[in-house]
Amino acid sequence: MNTRAETLTILLSCALLWLPAGETAAQPMPKREVIEVADGVFAATGYASNNMGFIVTKDGVVVIDTGMTPELGQSFLEDIRRHTDQPVRYVIFTHYHYDHVDGASAFKGEGVEFVAQQNLVWNLKNLKGLEHINQTVLGEASEAPTVFPDITYGEEHRLKLGGREIHLYHAMGETSDATLIHLPAEEVIFIGDLNNANLGSPVMPEGYAEGFIEAVDLIESLAPRVLVPGHGRIDDTTLGSLQAMRRVTAWLMTAVRESVSAGRNLEETLAAIKMPPEFASDPLLAASFVACREPYINRLFKNYTGYYGRNPVAFRPSTTVQRSKLLAELAGGNAALLAKAQALAGNGEHQLALELLDAVLTNEPDNSAALTQMADTYIAMARGDSDLNWYHRAAYFNAARKARAAIK
Ligand SMILES: [Zn+2]
Repeated sequence: MNTRAETLTILLSCALLWLPAGETAAQPMPKREVIEVADGVFAATGYASNNMGFIVTKDGVVVIDTGMTPELGQSFLEDIRRHTDQPVRYVIFTHYHYDHVDGASAFKGEGVEFVAQQNLVWNLKNLKGLEHINQTVLGEASEAPTVFPDITYGEEHRLKLGGREIHLYHAMGETSDATLIHLPAEEVIFIGDLNNANLGSPVMPEGYAEGFIEAVDLIESLAPRVLVPGHGRIDDTTLGSLQAMRRVTAWLMTAVRESVSAGRNLEETLAAIKMPPEFASDPLLAASFVACREPYINRLFKNYTGYYGRNPVAFRPSTTVQRSKLLAELAGGNAALLAKAQALAGNGEHQLALELLDAVLTNEPDNSAALTQMADTYIAMARGDSDLNWYHRAAYFNAARKARAAIK
């Protein structure tokens, strides 16, 4: 596979994709299919953006994740029924994100136990509101009944069913509550969203670079033959692609620490950290670097600098309303500010145009010319950069849709 194609596949291996109807991020999803990756061990791909799994034993079925809605959970259950009439005994959650747990109500019933790492309970109870906001960045927030686990564990847990051994390991990568599900005899591991090239959702308090490195070390020691990710085509996630991500992660951690220590701010750090030659010559490393660079630098910079940063100007900033008014005043009125934004957009300076349009709309939320320009500019941003992070692209399309919907 060439570098370009590998970049795409790593970009696709991401969580929390909730594409708005109409405009789409134009990302090829894996097709809907159930693949037997080992005797009686199935990967189920293409349920919206999600992959799930199930393991058939002579004493019942173990299900891995449930999809992003009760309807998708139900349709996954119907697909399982096409392969076995054994009862579902366990449902394991890889982590608490809605696109993995919101289908759970379809599996509730006599004799079914839900299993998760213990942090998932706190996350489900306390982070749902934040997750709804995260969903609204990409589309609409969904509502589904919350299903709490019956069985929780700390660091490791072993399930035995129908002569099969299933080992559960706690991992910290994308979220604090990740479970890696390993079948030692079959040499298969389900990794959930561990390989999220955003290092957690960009708008959620999560993403653990050190934990990700430890998790890849663990997976390496287990030497799986097949890895099943929570998103993307299963063939695209390999031990090699995870190892490349681990190396890039460690390199970026050092680079960001050094940049912060040298006194650079975030803008300067983003500009300074470029692909090292040893990555550029290796397709997997290069793809991983392209996918992870910007999100990881943003996440790590905030981790290494704290919430105030070090520039005293930014300690107690003026409000958006104050700045927007001042900008309009300096421009000679809100109409002049809008005209400047339109000129910038016409010139391809989309980011500056967006920032001015944001000010125009703060001053005058119903300005339909500004809303139209805003929508067009978001679309131009989404289409303009082929290396754009999938999360940004989906968020731009969604913001464009909302701007259009707000025009009266
Ligand atoms: Zn996730």
